[in-house]
Amino acid sequence: MNIYHLDNGDIELADWIYRRSHDWVTLIWNVTEKCNFSCPYCIGRPVGHQDRSLENVDPIKIIQAFEDTRKIIKKDIFITLTGGEPTLAHGMVTICKELSHRGFKLDLMTNACSPVVHEFINSVDPCSVSISMSYHMWKLDKDRALYDRYMTNFHTAWNRGITTALKIIASPEIIPTLEKKINKLRVDLPSDAPILIQNYIEGWVWPKAYTREMRDTLLHTMKIRRNSNIAFWDVSGFKGMKCDAGNSLIFMNTSGDFFPCFGIQGLKLGNLMDGNLKLTGNTISCPNETCSCTQHGIWYGKNPWDFIKGQKYEDATYNRFGPGGIKTTE
Ligand code: SF4
Ligand code: SF4
Repeated sequence: MNIYHLDNGDIELADWIYRRSHDWVTLIWNVTEKCNFSCPYCIGRPVGHQDRSLENVDPIKIIQAFEDTRKIIKKDIFITLTGGEPTLAHGMVTICKELSHRGFKLDLMTNACSPVVHEFINSVDPCSVSISMSYHMWKLDKDRALYDRYMTNFHTAWNRGITTALKIIASPEIIPTLEKKINKLRVDLPSDAPILIQNYIEGWVWPKAYTREMRDTLLHTMKIRRNSNIAFWDVSGFKGMKCDAGNSLIFMNTSGDFFPCFGIQGLKLGNLMDGNLKLTGNTISCPNETCSCTQHGIWYGKNPWDFIKGQKYEDATYNRFGPGGIKTTE
């Protein structure tokens, strides 16, 4: 279990180390649009027309392509698997099992209720994997069988030693009852299981709509990635921020095409199966008002403190170029 307690009181999880290390590249892989849920608020990952899909490629070839890419860029790769529900993509269990045993680090974002999550949990190397299990209240609160499946999968992952967190998306309407809800969930979770409370990012809608009272409630309830969230509430915009996307951060779509980040898909940096990823080697100027990277608790912008009212470099522990202060407690 990798949980980090920072000097400023913030708590970070397994992914923090790899996202901050300059020896590692963070690859956010949009694995599939398929999902076993149909949440009304799903932002999904619309990909439009795709020339090809990695789901039609032999998993063994995909594993080899990751090995080749690691050699080409001469960096280790930390892979965040997102979607859709990533475990539903063809061959994902095989691919993730192999990658985790070959020194790649994986971070799975899942609803924890797909038919193959259990197999994923039991086959990967626990030391190389972290899992963020989204708790979708609209579904799980009303379906006891699904709720039990969620909790069983959580406990299985936890007992295998995988850093596992329950994630709740903090829409304004749930904030008044959030603490009560968390206390209820805690009864069925392993003791001390981390609970992530995450802003909705795309389009700012919720964070910018939070009242002062809602913010105070969140500050009281939120124990993990607090500083990243607080900074996000107060950032004036990302546009113009110097960013390391394309260098320490890469986005890959369902076809295996690489781009600097989810928000910049006009600049192709190569394709996984073509074995031709080329990092930019330079910072870029962010063209977007919002940034979805903040939902992972780490910002790749090089100078966020210049864009956030009242912030100093010392505050930016959520930033790859910010100060150190790592203390491993587990
Ligand atoms: S579980 Fe996630 S990907 Fe699936 S519908 Fe819900 S929000 Fe969308
Ligand atoms: S700050 Fe801008 S360029 Fe950097 S990762 Fe976010 S959206 Fe992409």
